[in-house]
Amino acid sequence: MPHNPLHNKAMPMTSIKSGDLFEVLPDVAGLTVKIVNVCFVGQPNSRDWVLVDAGMPKSKDMIAKAAASRFGEGAPPKAILLTHGHFDHIGSAVELAEHWDVPVFAHSLELPYLMGMKNYPEPDTKVEGGMIANLSGFFPNTPVDLRPRIKALPEDGSLPGMPGWRWVATPGHTQGHVSFFRDSDRAMIVGDAFVTVRQDELYQVLTQHKELSGPPRYFTPDWDAARDSVQRLADLKPSVVLTGHGQPMEGEDLERDLAALAWDFDHIARPSHGKSVQKS
Ligand SMILES: [Zn+2]
Ligand SMILES: [Zn+2]
Repeated sequence: MPHNPLHNKAMPMTSIKSGDLFEVLPDVAGLTVKIVNVCFVGQPNSRDWVLVDAGMPKSKDMIAKAAASRFGEGAPPKAILLTHGHFDHIGSAVELAEHWDVPVFAHSLELPYLMGMKNYPEPDTKVEGGMIANLSGFFPNTPVDLRPRIKALPEDGSLPGMPGWRWVATPGHTQGHVSFFRDSDRAMIVGDAFVTVRQDELYQVLTQHKELSGPPRYFTPDWDAARDSVQRLADLKPSVVLTGHGQPMEGEDLERDLAALAWDFDHIARPSHGKSVQKS
């Protein structure tokens, strides 16, 4: 990377708050929507762009406004691509897909949860994680129905509207969870395969420091798969990552912390009690 984009901004990364658009690479920008990030991929002011994930419920206007500021008024994306179907990543998917009249893509294993057919398991409120885990019992997990717009991602690993990128299967947090990777510069968008914010601070939008964590604990049913997925992502040696929660990370900090998370996943990420804990 010729320069250090994350440290070159007028706005220091520690001050990201809901509604802020932050540029990670010239053609990759994030937007924090309450507690979660969505991602815009495509050159600014171009018509070739996609939205990755669709934020919290009732965020359509915020996301559409940020998109218009980056790509121009009346420039819909080619598609909405989902890392997975949890409510905080698809909250405004129905409204945005209708607003822009575009298709929505997710991994085929995620589709039953996005077609009104299946519910995710109840959040594991017994798992450690303090107040957040307790709060998660109040989160909706009723299925959304994105028909007729929802489609399965192509089996060949390509991503509609994102040339040069491919999806990588990263199950564990959900069965059909995927991460997105671009080989040319090793940029990575990981959804909730791992996050860069401490678990007990997940719902603070303002956080002072980055700390690599495993997937959010209370919603993760398969910790063995989650560990393998983190290893798979670490093996790709990303240069920069944008996560579903927390701030982007890059360079040596990322390389060191991701290697450590993969190496010591059970200790760092896996909860020590709760119903989804199984050691292998
Ligand atoms: Zn999730
Ligand atoms: Zn999430």
